[in-house]
Amino acid sequence: MGVQEAIAEISTFLGQRLSRSKSDLNLHGRSESHFPCSPPNAVAYPETTEEVTRIVKACAKAECPVIGWGTGTSLEGQAQAFQGGISVDFSRMNRILAVHPEDMDVTVQPGVTRESLNEDLRATGLFFPVDPGANASIGGMTSTRASGTTAVRYGTMRDNVLGLEVVTASGEVIRTGTRARKSSSGYDLTGLFVGSEGTLGLITEVTLRLHGQPEAISSAVCGFETVGDAVQAVIETIQMGIPMARIELMDPASVAAVNAYAGMDLPERPHLLLEFHGSDAGVAEQAETFGLIAAEHRGTGFDWATRPEDRTALWTMRHNAYHAILASRPGMRALVTDICVPISRLAEAIETTRTDLEATGIPGPILGHVGDGNFHAILLFDDTDTEAVGKAMAVSERMVERALALGGTATGEHGIGIGKLGYMEREHGAAWCVMGALKRALDPKGIMNPGKLVPPDS
Ligand SMILES: Cc1cc2nc3c(=O)[nH]c(=O)nc-3n(C[C@H](O)[C@H](O)[C@H](O)COP(=O)(O)OP(=O)(O)OC[C@H]3O[C@@H](n4cnc5c(N)ncnc54)[C@H](O)[C@@H]3O)c2cc1C
Repeated sequence: MGVQEAIAEISTFLGQRLSRSKSDLNLHGRSESHFPCSPPNAVAYPETTEEVTRIVKACAKAECPVIGWGTGTSLEGQAQAFQGGISVDFSRMNRILAVHPEDMDVTVQPGVTRESLNEDLRATGLFFPVDPGANASIGGMTSTRASGTTAVRYGTMRDNVLGLEVVTASGEVIRTGTRARKSSSGYDLTGLFVGSEGTLGLITEVTLRLHGQPEAISSAVCGFETVGDAVQAVIETIQMGIPMARIELMDPASVAAVNAYAGMDLPERPHLLLEFHGSDAGVAEQAETFGLIAAEHRGTGFDWATRPEDRTALWTMRHNAYHAILASRPGMRALVTDICVPISRLAEAIETTRTDLEATGIPGPILGHVGDGNFHAILLFDDTDTEAVGKAMAVSERMVERALALGGTATGEHGIGIGKLGYMEREHGAAWCVMGALKRALDPKGIMNPGKLVPPDS
């Protein structure tokens, strides 16, 4: 493929904004997870949709890979340039284009991060709820169909993206969706691009659904004797229809890691971290009902806080849990599992994972968005120890097998990249070939983020 040809053409209109510095290339070749650094040949920093179209057209002409880059926090190697090419970094396309408070929507460029969006929205009384913990970009979150702690109440990116502007693989600009809350108009192309990991086109604008800031918010923690007790309390809470805004599990190993990392002193037993949104009376009622359910399942130390600083401390601790777990075993790498099962099968999925981890001897603290049936075992290993690497891979493989057997999925939120590619055929069967056919139809030269998500021959 003609990477140098593409670089020569793109540098004529981007000038210094096409970077080939070693540090920039390495920065755009790394991942938060265990994949080795795979730098692109150059990093482009467009500022407009028109520049993105020119970049894609140059890459199409030269048959050069083009890979979108938001903030690089994806965990399955999605943004890495395993086949080289041009990394398109959207950090300079970070403007909020239009806020419509009366319709509760906003249109942004893809480089806007979720934290900066919420900063900007604060005065409007509205907020954007999807929260993957990392301060990810809206373009990256759209492309991975991200969710996180608040999906149990507000849904995932699938539920919160109303429309997109996309530069297709031929460099054409298309719009999908509208600002209307619903539509029966044709194929759901917005849904197709949400979660496509940059394999079908580059997203240059996103219109998002917003939500009203709740009148009252309270957060809570509750300890349990066993993970099974905590999970049963979650299942009952969800089945009773209590509108939880967040309901997160941390097992004793995760609690020990965050205690050491954040100077906390939670008892080292399974914990649920919760958040309630609503009116003052509604929040109090939800918390009390949850307290009764927790008590039935041997929950202790149930404590709820309404002070913003206490809530911030709690969720900062949760959001740093991944880094706390990594810090608990210095020098080790992490393989992050992400299975999601129907809620009624959650206890079984977690228990069998714990038994498997104990038998294998691989450290794997468990935490997750259990209100959605989604949890992560953070498998830790020394990547120079081939036996440990093999054991970690085998645990991950068995977790996926069991999730599929329980009616679930290999990935609740992190996506496919290259890390979960090996599970696609098992999960989707012939439907994976349909994904390949869509890829070939929309990107016949195979330049958009090649080697990810679809069958290798697509
Ligand atoms: C500590 C930690 C916790 C996390 N917790 C969660 C969690 O709870 N839930 C969750 O869902 N994820 C979680 N993640 C993963 C990550 O934050 C998400 O996958 C996030 O959506 C990635 O956004 P990003 O901006 O970093 O995208 P990147 O990593 O830069 O890119 C992700 C993918 O999107 C593509 N892309 C980026 N921008 C565009 C664009 N404009 N057009 C087309 N394609 C584009 C890239 O090519 C790549 O395929 C976590 C990660 C970390 C490190």
